[in-house]
Amino acid sequence: MKKSLNHPVFQVVAEVLKEESRQGYAIGGYVRDLLLGRTSKDIDIVVLGSGIDLARKVADRLGIRQVSVFKNYGTAMIRHGDLEVEFVGARRESYRSDSRKPLVENGTLEDDQKRRDFTINALAICLHPSCYGELVDPFNGLKDLKKQVIRTPMDPERTFSDDPLRMMRAIRFAAQLHFAIGDQTYQAIESNASRLQIVSNERIMEELHKILLSTKPSLGLKLLEGSGLLREFFPELADLKGVDVREGIRHKDNFFHTLEVLDNLSPHTDKLWLRWAALLHDIGKPPTKKFSPSLGWTFHGHDYVGYRMIPGIFRRLKLPMNEKMKYVQKLVLLHLRPIALVDDQVTDSAVRRLLYDAGDDVEDLMLLCEADITSKNEKRVRRYLQNFKKVRQKMREIEEKDRIRNFQPPITGELIMETFGIKPSRQVGIIKDAIKEAILDGEIENDYHQAYQLMLEKGQELGLEPVHRR
Ligand code: ATP
Ligand code: MG
Repeated sequence: MKKSLNHPVFQVVAEVLKEESRQGYAIGGYVRDLLLGRTSKDIDIVVLGSGIDLARKVADRLGIRQVSVFKNYGTAMIRHGDLEVEFVGARRESYRSDSRKPLVENGTLEDDQKRRDFTINALAICLHPSCYGELVDPFNGLKDLKKQVIRTPMDPERTFSDDPLRMMRAIRFAAQLHFAIGDQTYQAIESNASRLQIVSNERIMEELHKILLSTKPSLGLKLLEGSGLLREFFPELADLKGVDVREGIRHKDNFFHTLEVLDNLSPHTDKLWLRWAALLHDIGKPPTKKFSPSLGWTFHGHDYVGYRMIPGIFRRLKLPMNEKMKYVQKLVLLHLRPIALVDDQVTDSAVRRLLYDAGDDVEDLMLLCEADITSKNEKRVRRYLQNFKKVRQKMREIEEKDRIRNFQPPITGELIMETFGIKPSRQVGIIKDAIKEAILDGEIENDYHQAYQLMLEKGQELGLEPVHRR
């Protein structure tokens, strides 16, 4: 243990603690990650007495000028390289039922360990030279680390009722570390799920993002669904679960299908919003589900309905309403299109249209579609993947030839108005559109002169005359 505490900050903290005869400990995530051999970005140090005071002295000796002090919380932070080191006085907390913000008073190390969410996050390492490097582990956190379980140090019912965000954190740690959640701890999540209502969606999303970015997102999402937490903040997603049978015909469980798509996609991308697109690609299925005796189960238009649902979901969950949302919407709307291009008979025009609609996101769209193949039949999966290879090839050929991806029609609205001497109007749109369509359909090439000619023809059809400039 001593050897792993070789960061220079620890040496200096030990010196100051000795001179002042105070106790201080490294605690929490840093200690957990140290024992697991993971790297961590921040160090938390808890001291008896003032953390701010210690931070100032340590900063002084390390020649660090800036100490960020948060008086209200009694904490102070310094930066050493790209590491953040936070100092805080040991404290004791008590909660009221309507808020996850506790009342705080000074406490002992054990008080401070008791207020922590999980036994594996409550481990402390002594930094005073008299016990330097010794583990202080009143709740058997080390044992739980070895057994790979998430457990609360105190009564889990109380722990989760006090601060319901901890339920999201339990599942997030289980997902990131591939740990199990202890039985009693899990049951307490089930019975306190509705308490999640007092947590802001911003904080819930922070944890959900960590789950989505883990190596196997299905682990966390299954726990969220199974415990009842998912329905509390994301009922549209929980609604994907379940299988209906009619006249002996069943459809697949769209929740588990979605999780498989996410797991398939994960090795190919760490883009958060592409993973979001996978999470939402079938979100329009429950509202479009129909049974007909001749067709069986159908989800007609689920791509478009999903596309339309996304702004409401993003607004409620406090996700960005900007180009990130538009990107997710676009992928959801287009996710069925590449499949239609598999056919050998498919026209160049259909390929050009998809290139035009997907633009620079066409590669991400293909990754999503490839992940969307979740057949149990391996031969079939291989055949579908092979088909998508051909689609990619077709796209490459056509892109090389026609340069559609970032295509700007060669005739602008301004030029149309100038040519016919007209103001902004519906006619301008009609002509512009006709040119775009003709290019995508391959009737004319993506070329200024051909487009100019077509503009004149369309103008004439609309009864417009070019104005002759002197
Ligand atoms: P990571 O940094 O990977 O998210 P972490 O465990 O360091 O994991 P932080 O949010 O940085 O998590 O919190 C640092 C420590 O503070 C935790 O290890 C835990 O001991 C404690 N902690 C954080 N949030 C809570 C909470 N909601 N309830 C109780 N203790 C918490
Ligand atoms: Mg941390």
